Amino acid sequence: MCSRDLGERRLQTVRFFTVDLTKIRGRGEFGCPKCGAKISPDDKTEKTYAILDALVKENQLDSVMLRCNRCESHIHLVGFRVLNMTR
Ligand SMILES: [Zn+2]
Repeated sequence: MCSRDLGERRLQTVRFFTVDLTKIRGRGEFGCPKCGAKISPDDKTEKTYAILDALVKENQLDSVMLRCNRCESHIHLVGFRVLNMTR
């Protein structure tokens, strides 16, 4: 369930990961699956990562595509809707 076929052909030189926020403890911080860079949603400086795209469904954040600035991996963040449902 973790793999969505996003850009597999065009991104052959870029590592692509999916991170499920429902499996992360704390406030949503996680390490880059490849290089371990700490990526925090509270970090607005975009030094560590850049937001490439954000998908909103029904006025709720559904998923976000990030790029790790250290190793340039693309990281697909999912699981926002579940977080919103458990408040
Ligand atoms: Zn990285």
